[in-house]
Amino acid sequence: MIHYPYECPNCDYFVLEPASWFTEHENCPECGAVVEKVIGAVHRRGLNPVFHKPIEMFSVAPETPGEMAAFRRALPDVQLTDQGVPLARTRAEKLRILQAAGYEEH
Ligand SMILES: [Zn+2]
Repeated sequence: MIHYPYECPNCDYFVLEPASWFTEHENCPECGAVVEKVIGAVHRRGLNPVFHKPIEMFSVAPETPGEMAAFRRALPDVQLTDQGVPLARTRAEKLRILQAAGYEEH
C-alpha cells in the first residue's frame, strides 16, 4: 500500500499513512489544524516557504546527551531552544529535521 506524508502546517505533527487515513483524520491530533498532504502543500506554497514563526519540533527533540551529540553532528546549523527543542524556520528545514530523525519523505 502506498503511504503518503501528511503534515500539520501549524505544528510539527507528521505522519506517513495511506490515502484512506486522511478521510478520517483531517485535523491534527496535536493542535486541531487541518492536516495537509505534503506533496500538494509543496506545490501550493512554493518550494521553501518561511514559517511566520519558527516551529518547535517537540516530537524529535533529542533527549539524552548522546542523542544531542548525534543531532548536532547531523544538523549543525539547526537552532535549538533553551530546552533543546529543534526550531524549524522553513519548510525545507523542517523536512531535513524530520529526515534526520528517521522519517523519510516520499
Ligand atoms: Zn498541529
